[in-house]
Amino acid sequence: MAAQCSEFTGACQPNCGIGTMVRPLLDKVVATNMGAVEKSRTHETPKAQVVTAAPLTAFSWLIHGFSTRQGGRSDVYGGRSLNLGFTKQDSHSVVEQNRRTFLRGLGASKNARLWPLVTQRQVHSDLIHCVDSVPEHPLTGDGLLTRTPGIVLGILTADCLPVILVDSKRRAVGIFHAGWRGTVKRIVEKGVGEMQRYFGTRARDLKAAIGPGIYACCYAVGPEIREQFESQFTYGSELFHEIKESDPIRDKYPLLFLSARPPGHSELPKKLFLDLTEANRRQLVCAGVAARNISVSPLCTSCRTDLLFSHRAEKGVTGRMMAAVAIRK
Ligand SMILES: [Zn+2]
Repeated sequence: MAAQCSEFTGACQPNCGIGTMVRPLLDKVVATNMGAVEKSRTHETPKAQVVTAAPLTAFSWLIHGFSTRQGGRSDVYGGRSLNLGFTKQDSHSVVEQNRRTFLRGLGASKNARLWPLVTQRQVHSDLIHCVDSVPEHPLTGDGLLTRTPGIVLGILTADCLPVILVDSKRRAVGIFHAGWRGTVKRIVEKGVGEMQRYFGTRARDLKAAIGPGIYACCYAVGPEIREQFESQFTYGSELFHEIKESDPIRDKYPLLFLSARPPGHSELPKKLFLDLTEANRRQLVCAGVAARNISVSPLCTSCRTDLLFSHRAEKGVTGRMMAAVAIRK
């Protein structure tokens, strides 16, 4: 299979707190481009800092981006941040302003008019909707598709993975919200199938970008989640790794532990970590997307709360980022 699990790479990113990151070296990882950091010029006109996936920037007809927490007006999550979700703590009008800032940052406008944005009530499902305009009633689901220029499809995340699919031949796009639940339900695999059904997409024409999310360095999960992945995917067990929890006394006096076990120090409990990006990458490959056409962001939300919102790292009190994709008019 594509993943080279015998090879390991990379030191942990800052603030991880886990130690050395053990992460399978993907057979073709294309790092995302970090857009130039552009600080707000004035108090009135913040500028969204947006992350893009390098392979998708090649299409002049395509607009896409993954927001960060930087460049907004929210003041409830530390500093002034670009919260794009209607959260309990933030004001509705500030989030609306932030969304306009983000859309402008993406370039989703014509003659100073912003394009309409389609989002959903996300429920960790495998429901996917194909849209050609802004729906009259809010949609519930976790995937959106379109071939219509001039509308922006958005997915909100704060640890879950955003995944963008682009049919380079038929000029169609899809965007998906893949937490562990949606991943077990195969939302991106279904996304490829739905693009085939609606647009005649061939998997070999698809480019995929997996955006920032909580990565294997930080995504500790319970054994019941491993059971679910193992029951769904032949490669399920390969998506997990275990790390013994650290013990400061053991770290300081390792010799004590070589021969005898001092009283009160039993076998260390193990922590289980899920590699959600690899799970989605494998799913895309199984659906026929070429490994070389899948790019994976190197940014872990939990490691990089300076740049990104992380629901877990910030104990549930945080903003939401948006991944967005659109076809130019
Ligand atoms: Zn991490």
